[in-house]
Amino acid sequence: MKRKGRMMTGMLAAAMLFACAAPANTPQTEAPQTNPDEITAPLTGEGAEEHASEPLHYVPAPKIEGSSLYVKKVENMPDDFILGMDASSVNAEEQSGVRYRNFAGEEQDVFLTLAESGVNTVRVRVWNHPYDADGNGYGGGNNDIDKAVEIGKRVTQYGMKLLVDFHLSDFWADPGKQMVPLAWKDMKIEEKTEAVYQFVKESLEKLRDAGVDVGMVQIGNETNGALCGEKIWFNIQYLMGAGSKAVREVYPSALVALHFANPEKAGSYAGYAKKLAYYNLDYDVFASSYYPFWHGTLENLAAVLSEIAETYGKKVMVMETSYAFTTEDTDFSGNTIGEGGGIVKSYPFTVQGQANEVRDVIDTVVNHTTNGIGVVYWEGTWITVGGSSWEENHELWEKYGSGWASSYAAVYDPNDAGKYYGGSAVDNQAMFDRYGKPLESLRVFNLSRYGNEVELLPDAVEDVNLYVDLNGRIELPETVNAVMTDDSKQPVPVQWNVTEADYEKMYAGGVATYDITGDAGGLEAHCYVNMIEYNFLENYSFESGEEAPWQVTDNAKADELYVERKVTDSKTGEYHYHFWSAAANSVDFVLTQPVENLPAGTYKFTISIMGDDGGDTDIYAFAIVDGAEVGRAPLKLSGYNNWNTATVQEIVVGEGQTVTVGIAVRCSGAGSGAWGKIDDALLNSVS
Ligand code: CA
Repeated sequence: MKRKGRMMTGMLAAAMLFACAAPANTPQTEAPQTNPDEITAPLTGEGAEEHASEPLHYVPAPKIEGSSLYVKKVENMPDDFILGMDASSVNAEEQSGVRYRNFAGEEQDVFLTLAESGVNTVRVRVWNHPYDADGNGYGGGNNDIDKAVEIGKRVTQYGMKLLVDFHLSDFWADPGKQMVPLAWKDMKIEEKTEAVYQFVKESLEKLRDAGVDVGMVQIGNETNGALCGEKIWFNIQYLMGAGSKAVREVYPSALVALHFANPEKAGSYAGYAKKLAYYNLDYDVFASSYYPFWHGTLENLAAVLSEIAETYGKKVMVMETSYAFTTEDTDFSGNTIGEGGGIVKSYPFTVQGQANEVRDVIDTVVNHTTNGIGVVYWEGTWITVGGSSWEENHELWEKYGSGWASSYAAVYDPNDAGKYYGGSAVDNQAMFDRYGKPLESLRVFNLSRYGNEVELLPDAVEDVNLYVDLNGRIELPETVNAVMTDDSKQPVPVQWNVTEADYEKMYAGGVATYDITGDAGGLEAHCYVNMIEYNFLENYSFESGEEAPWQVTDNAKADELYVERKVTDSKTGEYHYHFWSAAANSVDFVLTQPVENLPAGTYKFTISIMGDDGGDTDIYAFAIVDGAEVGRAPLKLSGYNNWNTATVQEIVVGEGQTVTVGIAVRCSGAGSGAWGKIDDALLNSVS
C-alpha cells in the first residue's frame, strides 16, 4: 500500500474517521450476542498501513514460442500481477494414481508445469480437520494444513508463491454453508475468536517452518455474511480479525484477503465492504469468485470491485474462475457445467474457449478494475483418477479423498456430502486432459502478457436448423456461423456429407428431422433438416404484426380486437390475435382468411385459443368451400396460457375452388370481461 502513495493514505484516513464516528464495539445494525466488552478486539485500528506488503518480486518468464493458442495481449500487465492456480487436490490425485505430464507428454512435477506456463501463485484450501473419528478423509483432497505444507514446499521450490485459503470449517465452505469445525462446535464467540487466531497462527507457523513462500492468506472462503457457523457481522468480524492478526504476526509481508461470491447481487459487495470498514477490519484484498455461468458480466464485476477499491483503498482480485473445455465427463461423476447448457457469451466449450474466458477475466482485472492485483483459476489440476467405471473411481475417491466428497463426510455434512458424495464435478474445467497432460489453454497465463495473435481459425460452429415444407426444396447452406479462435463470429464455408440418395430419402420420408453432418474448416458441422407440412395460410402466427390477410367481422363491437405483441401471451413467436371487452355480450366476432388457388386435394385446418371469463361461450374453428361450410370443430376458454387446439378435418377442395378458414368467438350470458388470445393457424394438405 505504501507503493500506492498519497491518495491511498487519504482513503485510509477517511475510513478511520468513519470508524471513529462509529466505534467497532458499538454496532448499530446488529445486536451483539455477547457482551462486546468481554472480547479483546483483535484489532487496534492501526491496520493495513503498518503492514504494507512486499511486492511479488516476480520476474516474468519470456514468452512461450510456438503455441497454437490464440491469445490477445493483455496490455499494461504489471510484472507482479498474480496469475494463480488453485491446485488443492494434487496430492490426493497423485495418491490415486494420477500422473501429471508436461506438454511433451512426459511425466513431470505438475508444479513445474504450472510455473513454466506462467503461473506465479498456487492457491490451496485448508480445512481444520477433514477426517472422521477413524481417520477417514472427507474427500475434496482431504486438505488439512499438512497437505498445504506438502504442496507449499513444491510450490516454493519452483519460485511460485502460496496463497492459503482458510475455510475455517472441517469441509467445504461457500455461500451455501459455513459450518463450524466439530472441535469448535460448542464454543462461544470469545473462545472461537481465540481458536481461529491459534489455528491460523499454528498453521502458518508450520508453513513458515517448512520454508514455504506464502504471498497471501485468505480468512474464510466465499464468506457472504457467514463464517465458521457465525451469521452476524459483529461476530464474523472478530473471527476475520483474529485470522488477520495471526497472518500479520507469522507472515508480515503476506497480503490478507477476504473472499466473497456473487458479484452479480446488486449492492452486496458494497454492503460487505461497508461492514468491514465499520469494524475497521485489517485486510488488504477484497477478492471475488467469478464463474461466468453464474456471476453476471465482467463489466459488472469490474464495477463492483472498483467501487470498493476506490472507496476503501483496497486491492481487489478474482480469487476463483474457471470454464469448461469440453462437455464430456471423464470420471463418471456428473459435471456442474456441460451437457445441457451453461455456455456463456460466445466462449465455446473448447480449449480455446476456456483460454479466452481466462484471458478476458485477466484483462478485466488489469485494465478495467481499480487496484486489480490478480486472477486465480480454480482447480485446474482436478482431473479424473482414471478408472474405467464409477465403482473403480469410487474406491480411489474413498481411499484418498480425490473426489469432491467421500461417504465418510456424512458425519459432518449429512445433507449434502453425505448424500451426494462422488468424484469431480469440474474435470471438464481442468487445464489438464484425462491423462494428466496440460491443455494448451494453460499457457494463457504466460501468453496473456505478450499476446499470441496467431492465424485465426474456426474454433466451434453453430448447428443449422433448416425447415423445409414437404413440397419445398431442400437447400443446405453454403456457410455456417463459426466462433473463431479470437472469439469473433464469422461464416465459414461448409462441405455437407450428403448424397442424392439422402435427398431422395428426405423428400420421401414425410414429416421427419434429419441430421446432416459436414466439414467446416476442419470442424464437424450439423444441419438439422426438419421436413414440415406446408402451411397454406399466410401470417399464420400473426408475426407480421399486421392483421392482413386475416379479416375480422366484429358483430358486437368488442372493446379490444387486434394483433398484439406479447411474447408471454403468444403460443409461438411474439404476436397473437387479442380480444377483450368489459361489457357482457360484446365479444362476438369472426376471424377468417380466404385462400385461393389451392391445389385440389384434402386439407385440414388447425387453430388455437386461450382466455377466460367468457360466460356461455360459442367458439369454433370452421372451413368454408365455395361459400358452403364443410366442417366445424368446437373450442373453449379454460384459463391463462391454457391453450386449446381444434382441427377441422377432411376439407375436400376441388380445382379452382376458394377455401375460407377461420374461428368464430361469441361470449354471452355472464361474459363480461371476456378475453382471449388466438394463435397458430395451420392449413395443411393431408393427401
Ligand atoms: Ca465429472
